Amino acid sequence: MKISHIEHIGIAVENLEEAIAFYEKAFGLQCYAIEEVADQKVKTAFFKVGQTKIELLESTDSEGPIGKFIANKGQGIHHLAFCVDNVAEALNQVEEAGVRLIDKAPRKGAEALNIGFLHPKSTFGVLTEFCSE
Ligand code: ZN
Repeated sequence: MKISHIEHIGIAVENLEEAIAFYEKAFGLQCYAIEEVADQKVKTAFFKVGQTKIELLESTDSEGPIGKFIANKGQGIHHLAFCVDNVAEALNQVEEAGVRLIDKAPRKGAEALNIGFLHPKSTFGVLTEFCSE
């Protein structure tokens, strides 16, 4: 496995429009894509910061993962995503090293990336994602 960079940082927000306006006004960043990922019950908005993206996540269902996260912990950093050369291979490799996985195999995330999540109990409390194009 080779990690090239932090692909994105996912931030859970209650109101996507308000959060977008804040990122644009306060930080001068430009939202370049808004996408609903039905599978994950979220609406996402993306900003580029160099090679890394900020992914704002608004829940579309209180029973979805972001809905539950906000109910438990409030808004804030939700996950960290590493860009890897091959998600399936990377998942296998960390599983062999004893890491608990949420996704045993890659699935499709926002921006049609292959993604897979590692369990935060295995990664010092940080929900970690692998993704690749
Ligand atoms: Zn993500």
